[in-house]
Amino acid sequence: MDCLLCGEPAGDRAGWRALFTDRGRPVVCRSCRDGFVLSNDPPPLSDWAGTQYEGMLDGAVSLYAYNEPMKDFLHRYKFMKDVALARVFAEKVADAVSEAGGTIVPIPVHPGRLKERTFSHVDELLKCAGVPFGQMLDKTAAVTLGKMNRRERMAAEPLFRIRAGINGAPGEYVLFDDLYTTGTTLHHAAAALKQAGARRVTAVTLIRA
Ligand SMILES: [Zn+2]
Repeated sequence: MDCLLCGEPAGDRAGWRALFTDRGRPVVCRSCRDGFVLSNDPPPLSDWAGTQYEGMLDGAVSLYAYNEPMKDFLHRYKFMKDVALARVFAEKVADAVSEAGGTIVPIPVHPGRLKERTFSHVDELLKCAGVPFGQMLDKTAAVTLGKMNRRERMAAEPLFRIRAGINGAPGEYVLFDDLYTTGTTLHHAAAALKQAGARRVTAVTLIRA
């Protein structure tokens, strides 16, 4: 098949590394694949020490660095709505969330955004990865994080709550989102799960921004 990113033949050589493939077939060419760089910069959970959110996340992993090829990918995927691009990282996402261990919970997209974007870019990554997941969270308010400074983000009440109709969350959970930037979204989501009884909450994001 042709590379989902540049349209050149993606190749079908035997021995292709088991990354960037869809059921064993490469979905991006070597040149595009080589543009993505694994993140060796773990999310700095210690930023949250001393806040009410300390310890809410028991661990976090980000898969890729936010370099130019990744910015371009995200722009095409999220804002140009090229939903087929969710397949690019399917295998990597599947491996990471499975390894984290627990019920997979995507960060919900704001309902207003969902309407304008027409698809949930977070859910779609998981769907393409072929892993089961459950929507357990709702946004509590239309507060936009962009308007909060660092101290406000860390002191704010949780931006998420357990979805109506779900009675407690006593298990182990893996939150999934596209970006880890300040960690606010994930810490707030983890707090909602912990308040509902979660024993352990970890997070996986595609990108460490
Ligand atoms: Zn390509």
